[in-house]
Amino acid sequence: MIRIGFGSDVHRLVEGKKLILGGVEIPADLGAEGHSDADALTHAVTDAILGALAAGDIGTHFSDRDERWRGADSFVFLRYTIGLMKEKGFSVGNLDSVISLEKPKLRPHIEQMRENLAAALEIEIDRISVKAKTGEKVDAVGERRAVKAEAIVLLQKLPA
Ligand code: MG
Repeated sequence: MIRIGFGSDVHRLVEGKKLILGGVEIPADLGAEGHSDADALTHAVTDAILGALAAGDIGTHFSDRDERWRGADSFVFLRYTIGLMKEKGFSVGNLDSVISLEKPKLRPHIEQMRENLAAALEIEIDRISVKAKTGEKVDAVGERRAVKAEAIVLLQKLPA
């Protein structure tokens, strides 16, 4: 059996916060604001997997009103979700994603993001795609008010 899932996430960009994407801290003058570490890519990937499982979304499992998750490493959410996925007998076939950020250029950090996601998802890196786009200076991304990430994932359940 195969299942498909989609996830999308946006965080506001502000001064004085870290910019973390796919578990990589990106040197930047503006960082992402959020209850956890505000890692939009990891949130989108987590939501894509939860979506494929029809198991709610990241907010269902990790409320942004819960003090336990203040400043939390978003890989905690991802690893928990991978655990749910494995309980249901699925593994990740492949993952594709897009980060929308005006500045800085993400290319130097993409490989590390793929490595981090591959380790968490327990699959080969060549099944993980992370792409980066700018906002062409328009809308919230282009005006440097937000970072956005979208992810799509295919889950597979091998016959027992
Ligand atoms: Mg988020």
